[in-house]
Amino acid sequence: MMLPGRVVADYALNPTKQPLEHAMSMTFSGQVALVTGGAAGIGRATALAFAREGLKVVVADLDLAGGEATVALIHAAGGEALFIACDVTRDAEVRQLHERLIAAYGRLDYAYNNAGIEIEQGRLAEGSEAEFDAIMGVNVKGVWLCMKYQLPLLLAQGGGAIVNTASVAGLGAAPKMSIYSASKHAVIGLTKSAAIEYAKKGIRVNAVCPAVIDTDMFRRAYEADPRKAEFAAAMHPVGRIGTVEEIASAVLYLCSDGAAFTTGHCLTVDGGATAI
Ligand code: NAD
Repeated sequence: MMLPGRVVADYALNPTKQPLEHAMSMTFSGQVALVTGGAAGIGRATALAFAREGLKVVVADLDLAGGEATVALIHAAGGEALFIACDVTRDAEVRQLHERLIAAYGRLDYAYNNAGIEIEQGRLAEGSEAEFDAIMGVNVKGVWLCMKYQLPLLLAQGGGAIVNTASVAGLGAAPKMSIYSASKHAVIGLTKSAAIEYAKKGIRVNAVCPAVIDTDMFRRAYEADPRKAEFAAAMHPVGRIGTVEEIASAVLYLCSDGAAFTTGHCLTVDGGATAI
């Protein structure tokens, strides 16, 4: 168990001991992690990764069967997990999610706000009000509501870490997905603002920005058209799309004590796509 600030304290006491010794640590000071959108894709992989590290995991999702299946996978691997049904767009459900989580495990140390939807709405002028409200509801309001209930819990405990799922579409243009792109830019705004507001309180808030990752979301958007799938692979300099495990390991790093000095950061996990 390494507490935030310990690295600096060790170094101050013993300057010959290099802080780098701790830099790649994936140790966790806390015990309980929450993953929203944990019934599938990136969320499921991250819930499994937290459980492999010995954390108790609360899986939250709209999808009851998928959420229970994630928990069953964790139990089968010897881990501890609980599924709580929750629509992240509804204030009362998000409040109840956090109340139930505390009732079950007594604390929250890491929250991964990952539930999200993508709708390819065509060019900007072709989008509908319903699409706008749906995308903004899950991707922006959902992340905001989750942080609204998480931050007081982390504050009361004296610290913790939050990671939100943004996207490379939150860093630049996403033609024919302008509403999605706007929603992910907003996630980055929420992430950075919360990080600064709580920086002195031991709470770190970061985001991951995946490029195209092989999940149901990707298959719905790309698999129907093989040319799109080829294009998706080619847009990453490494020549392939990413895996859910590659996002999970970035999330775990951002939660770990090895990232104790990292807050307000948006970590691209994109096979070089944004470096071009
Ligand atoms: P996915 O569709 O496989 O999983 C998303 C999960 O979120 C599902 O289990 C779904 O039921 C849940 N969900 C949707 N609306 C919800 C709501 N209102 N309340 C609670 N849960 C809800 O998608 P994924 O690819 O794993 O995406 C996860 C996150 O990663 C999303 O925020 C997405 O925008 C982001 N992302 C995905 C990619 C990609 O290529 N797959 C790239 C960049 C960012």
